[in-house]
Amino acid sequence: MDNIDQYINAAATREQLGIAPAELQQTLKLAGLLQTSLEIESVLNFFLQSVQQIVTFDAAQYNFEEENLKLKYGKTQRHRCSYRLRLAGEFLGELIFTRRRRFSEQEMEYLENLMGQLIYPLRNAVWYQRALQAAKIDPLTGANNRAALKETIEREVELSHRHKTALSIIMFDLDHFKHINDNYGHITGDEVLRECVHVCNHALRSTDMLFRFGGEEFVVILPGENANGAIIAAERLRAVIEKHAFHNNQSTVPVTISVGTASLTLRESAQALIERADKALYSAKNAGRNLVKSAEELSNATVVNA
Ligand code: GH3
Ligand code: MG
Ligand code: MG
Repeated sequence: MDNIDQYINAAATREQLGIAPAELQQTLKLAGLLQTSLEIESVLNFFLQSVQQIVTFDAAQYNFEEENLKLKYGKTQRHRCSYRLRLAGEFLGELIFTRRRRFSEQEMEYLENLMGQLIYPLRNAVWYQRALQAAKIDPLTGANNRAALKETIEREVELSHRHKTALSIIMFDLDHFKHINDNYGHITGDEVLRECVHVCNHALRSTDMLFRFGGEEFVVILPGENANGAIIAAERLRAVIEKHAFHNNQSTVPVTISVGTASLTLRESAQALIERADKALYSAKNAGRNLVKSAEELSNATVVNA
């Protein structure tokens, strides 16, 4: 962003020097430059820096709502020139240039030509970002997958240690899921998993993150939450699943979960935290299922028993 702002300031001077746009265009080798990155922001950065040398602008904005992208450079002005970017029918966002002076016909023609150079690299970058995202999503349930969990939990544990903030996790597993598959069929089993993710996502806070750990086992990361908060959230999940009416044609499929929670301790690793939550989950299964157990409660019991 800073780069672009520097260019925006420098551009006015460059224009005063009267450098011919056509000559500049030749030297820019824009197309080559745009091939060097698959990051949407970098592609746009390169592009806007190059445009700035041919058609000056005070501000530029790129909006791609469907991809949650909104990039803004400079301070928006009165005169605008906007492009809805499309390639073979695929919408790729909207690019808007604004400035104090009106854009001339010739400048708009330049912009249109330049847009032609942006469109393929931008499409590649958008597809690449989507592929990266897809690699972290479980295709059956739409929840984050185990690869995403590993990355996220390691980052959250590090942040939590650095900032001395609380961090807790919940691990839950569907009870007797094998029976559900056996009694209602695998397709219903799959549907139960999907619905379970949907119901849990609704019951969680927007900062909580749900992951499919594998099979019918899930992990929730609760940033900023202490052991008590984790138990409350876990109990909420347990209750909401028990109450939810999972349907298979006419009949209702009874679904419950067993839940383990654990709260990060001093210098604890992500792996150790997961292991403690897993033990708590195992203890909830042993104690009869459809229950919540916390790792902290277990370790206190161990101390008392010792
Ligand atoms: P427990 O209460 O002890 O957890 O019993 P359980 O039957 O849930 O556990 P178990 O580990 O014996 O069985 C898990 C079952 O989950 C077996 C497996 O076929 C099923 N499963 C795992 N992944 C999927 C999936 O993606 N779809 C469906 N339909 N079933 C799955
Ligand atoms: Mg199970
Ligand atoms: Mg299991």
